[in-house]
This record gives sequence, structure tokens and C-alpha cells, in this order.
Amino acid sequence: MVPSRATSLVLVVGLATIAGLCPRSTIAQKPAPATTPVVLRAARMVDVTTGQLVANPRIVIEGSRIVSVNPATLPAGARVIDAGDVTLLPGFIDAHTHLAGEIGPNMQLLPVTETDVDGAYHAARNGRTTVLAGFTTVRDFGGSVTVALGKAVERGDVTSPHIVPSRNALGITGGHCDVTGYAPGVLEQGPKDGVANGPWEVVDAVRYQIKHGAKVIKTCATAGVLSMEGPVGAQQYTYEELKAMVDEAARHGVKVAAHAHGTEGIKAAIRAGVASIEHGSMLDDEAIAMMKERGTYFVPTTYLIDRIDLAVLPPVVRAKAQTIIPVARERLRKAIAANVRIAFGTDAGVFPHGENAHEFGIYVKLGMSPAEALRTGTVNAADLLGLDDRGVIAPGKLADIVAVPGNPLDDITTTERVVFVMQSGKVLKESGRPVM
Ligand SMILES: [Zn+2]
Repeated sequence: MVPSRATSLVLVVGLATIAGLCPRSTIAQKPAPATTPVVLRAARMVDVTTGQLVANPRIVIEGSRIVSVNPATLPAGARVIDAGDVTLLPGFIDAHTHLAGEIGPNMQLLPVTETDVDGAYHAARNGRTTVLAGFTTVRDFGGSVTVALGKAVERGDVTSPHIVPSRNALGITGGHCDVTGYAPGVLEQGPKDGVANGPWEVVDAVRYQIKHGAKVIKTCATAGVLSMEGPVGAQQYTYEELKAMVDEAARHGVKVAAHAHGTEGIKAAIRAGVASIEHGSMLDDEAIAMMKERGTYFVPTTYLIDRIDLAVLPPVVRAKAQTIIPVARERLRKAIAANVRIAFGTDAGVFPHGENAHEFGIYVKLGMSPAEALRTGTVNAADLLGLDDRGVIAPGKLADIVAVPGNPLDDITTTERVVFVMQSGKVLKESGRPVM
């Protein structure tokens, strides 16, 4: 499920104009990070790899990196941060967000009432909310807005998760990744916007997204809920189009994430070699077996089922949601039982940003152990995103660390109450309060 404006609408003029008014030399340069080592202590830490609780961890951080965990001697002159009676965890990773928007009663009109400049301000606010909720990295499907937000985060200009952006999602004319519901001539989209038909146009679209900052290609393999087109499960891209997309992306070292609800579209995407199936509402046993065989990740986005506000949706969209919701969770339960590789992803934007961690609790209700659930949002998501510098608290990794009260191995819902956030060695939240 995808808010249509955030994924497929591209009104690049606004941001490009602003960028043009702002010469590079005027962009404020942040001072280099202090080199004084930091020792982060707390009552507990979860080693997410083993699923074990570690008592009294002491993590030594220099700049943006972890240099050691529980060394025999601590560095002299280090600044000590005592997070107190909390449990440290690696910063959470959400593999499916839409920071540039949030659904609401005007959702259907956003493509013609807002520009990417509006989207950028939404994204700045939603990014801050998301990182303060403990999500230090997201894979975001939000057009050029979140490509730019990701750069701003790395410059240190804004408080937001690190971003792996897709730029514009690829889809067929009239499909879930197109802008639908308007008269002919209104916001007609092409390959640069992500709307591409036939293998060669798809290749063109992939190249253009990557040229302009995509670090992952997102595609709509099937129809979706939050758009005006036909049956929600209908396959939209052919196998040949999906294969051309995956092959071209792979030549650039980029993976493909496929939004897919219907069974046939899910299977075509898996066969074509996508890295992840998003939503996967109508997974059947054969699709589950195919995913296991190929190591395809499943990104369930299941919390939204409890949280989506059906009342604000147009009747045609509401009807589609009501078709898909009753089946999706049972298929996820099956996938968990079958040990399909699962990476944490929420579709935040379909529900209010910052509630992402509620997804963990549902995985546990559907059969995962709390440690397995924590791995989906740390090591597994890092693996899917191709980021080997995060997802665990270990020497050499990025100092992206969060803390929750209590013990998340006993009560996974503690992840919904993040009290401490460190991102790239910088403390963003302490004792439950933002410090930036
Ligand atoms: Zn989505």
C-alpha cells in the first residue's frame, strides 16, 4: 500500500529551483566531530545475533563508529554516557517507509495540490519523528524528496534516519505506481517519473532513477490498495518487464523491492529475482517455497492493518483494503512458520510516522520469538539493504544505538518506548527527551 503522491508524483521544479538559488559555497559546513572517545553504559544490552542479554555493557565509540564493546580497559579521558536502567539495542531499521507523506482525507488530491517542496517539509518532520522513535535507518520510497533528505542527513543538516532511497517507483501506465483517478492529460507520467512499459522503457526508467540517486529500485509488480485502479491483486508488470528491471538494476549493484499483493505477481517478481516482496498479502505455499529457495526477503508491513484509517479513504480504495486485510495476516503467520527470511518494514505514512515499532509486537504474536523479531529490524533489514556497517552493536560498526526500558526479550512492546537514540555517535534523545 502506497500513498500515491509520495511514490509516483514528481514535481521536480520546486526543489530544483531552490537548489539553484543556493550556491554550494553557502551551505553551512559542520565542524568535524570531536575525537574524544565516548563510553556508553547501561544496565543491559541485547546481542541480537545470539539473542542473549548482556549485563552492564560498556561500548566505546569514537566519532561515528563503535571501536570496542566491553574492552578490558576503558580509554582514558573518555566522556561517559550512562543511559541507566535500560536495554541497549542496535538502531532499528525500517525497510519500507514513505517519509514524504501521510494518508488523510485529501490524499487523492495531493498530486495536484502539493509539490515536492511540500513533500520535503513533510519528510523533514516525519524523519525527525521516525529517528526519535529509534529508527536510525530507513529504506524510503518517496521520490526525489527523500533522495535529498538522505543527503541532508549525511551532511548533519537535519535530524532524520539514514535513508536508502528508491526515488520514483516503477510501474505500468494506470497502475499502482502511476497517478490514477484523473482525466486524460492531468499529470501524465513517463519513464523519468517511473511509469514505464515494456522491457526497454523499464531499463530506461531504472537508469534514470539510479542517475538521480536511487539506491534501490521500487516497483509495483501488482495493483495496490491506495490507488484508483482495478482488482488489488492483479499482476501489473509482466515477468519480462520485471526481469529486465532486475537485470539492469543488478548491473549497477542495485536491488529491486517489489510491492506485490496478488499471488501471480508475487511469483513473477520472485522468479525475476527481486530482493524483497513488500506486503505479500496473497502469498501461497508455492510462493513461500520459492522465497525460501532463492532467499527472497518478505517485508510484511502488517501493523498498518490495525492502524489504517479506512474512514478517510475513497469508497473504491476502502473496498480494496477490506478485500486484502482479512487474508494478509494469515499468510504472514504461514511465512513465519515456514522460516521465510523476513525484514522489518511498515509502510509508515499509511499510519502515523513514529509508530513503526508496533510492527515488532505483531511478528511475535504471529509466532516469532522476541529475538527473531528484533533481528528482522536490525541484522535482517541491514542485510536486505546491503548495509554491512550496521544492524549489530560491534566494533567497526556505525554507532547507531537505541535503548528501551525493561527487557525487550520478555516484552517486545518495550521497543515502542525508545528512551535513548544515538545515530552515527551523536546523541539525539536521552532520558526519553529529544536533545537535538
Ligand atoms: Zn508502501
